[in-house]
Amino acid sequence: MAATRRPGRNHLFVPGPTNIPDRVMRAMMVQSEDHRSVDFPALTKPLFQDTKAVYGSTEGTIFLFPASGTGIWESALSNTLSRGDKVLAARFGQFSHLWIDMAQRLGLEVVVQDEEWGTGANPERIGEALRADKNHEIKAVMVVHNETATGVTSDVGAVRKAIDAAGHPALLFVDGVSSIGSLPFKMDEWKVDCAIAGSQKGLMLPAGLGVICVSQKALKAADTSSGQNDRLAHVYFDWADHQKQNPAGYFPYTPSLPLLYGLREALACLNEEGLENVYHRHHVLGEATRQAVAAWGLKTCAKEPKWNSDTVTAILVPEGVDAAAIIKHAYVRYNLALGAGLSQVAGKVFRIGHVGDMNELSLLGAIAGAEMAMLDHGVKVQPGSGVAAASSYLRENPLAKA
Ligand code: PLP
Repeated sequence: MAATRRPGRNHLFVPGPTNIPDRVMRAMMVQSEDHRSVDFPALTKPLFQDTKAVYGSTEGTIFLFPASGTGIWESALSNTLSRGDKVLAARFGQFSHLWIDMAQRLGLEVVVQDEEWGTGANPERIGEALRADKNHEIKAVMVVHNETATGVTSDVGAVRKAIDAAGHPALLFVDGVSSIGSLPFKMDEWKVDCAIAGSQKGLMLPAGLGVICVSQKALKAADTSSGQNDRLAHVYFDWADHQKQNPAGYFPYTPSLPLLYGLREALACLNEEGLENVYHRHHVLGEATRQAVAAWGLKTCAKEPKWNSDTVTAILVPEGVDAAAIIKHAYVRYNLALGAGLSQVAGKVFRIGHVGDMNELSLLGAIAGAEMAMLDHGVKVQPGSGVAAASSYLRENPLAKA
């Protein structure tokens, strides 16, 4: 008789949704409550403050939506911009592509800067385009901080410098869906106007809570656009509706109570570990993964070390090998979920997500499983080589800084 139960844990190594700490899961096991009660603000009011830490912000305003990251993209664009507005966006992977597609479908004119997949946003080109825009028609610059499809992190600080050097007033919108809560993010220092996050990656929660941190400048842009007839339509994601309720700890519609309790616990986890340690841990786990890839004799999708992402590594399989088959086999045979190659890199890469709640031995499980799945599919890697390289690196580099 075929087994109906798969013993042991599923090893979840997609770059989101990520593993949820047990204590966060327990915190979400709550009975429903009246979200208009006098008790409710005790839960919610601190969240608007405490969530800012993962953004590196004290000055921003947090809005929490029952949505995934895609909804928060829309919230940023639709609250601040009007139909026909010009925006500048770099495209170098599936998520930057999808955000551009959304902007176009919303009725914005997108000036697209295509970069080779495996690289990221190019601050020089962005600066050039802004300098050429003498009439300041470009209203916003859109950058995906961490392109999850290719395992590439862009330098948002350098983009900010380019905008300032061009003396251009465009807003800066940053997708931090696979970076916020796991990579250093400096909303105030980089003067990011809208920073977008989802709950299911660095925040270690299920999907469904969309978080945006908004600058004063973006709030002002939202005010301006609200008086215009050609403003982009937005109702569910309207910041003004939230601003009327949030200061008292309420929402304009029913929030997801378990996710709010979960967020409180997840923020406590990050705080107890210390954000600097969280960032360091992601760096060490990312580097260990890259050591394994090098030991296998394979390459990452990221073209140069400066693009390496510490939350996800996209690994190129040798010509003639189907990465999708390896992913399927890893899942069916070893109960290991690896990230698929998307769009241009479908079948060419598999991704190891090293984001969220994880440590040395969990990562080594994924590296061992990926190695076994590759060997089963005829990829000529030296058995044990990835695990050996990663484990040597991990032994020498503790996860906690202090
Ligand atoms: N942006 C990035 C960088 C992502 O990785 C994702 C999802 O993986 C999204 C946006 C879309 O977010 P969601 O799937 O939560 O709508």
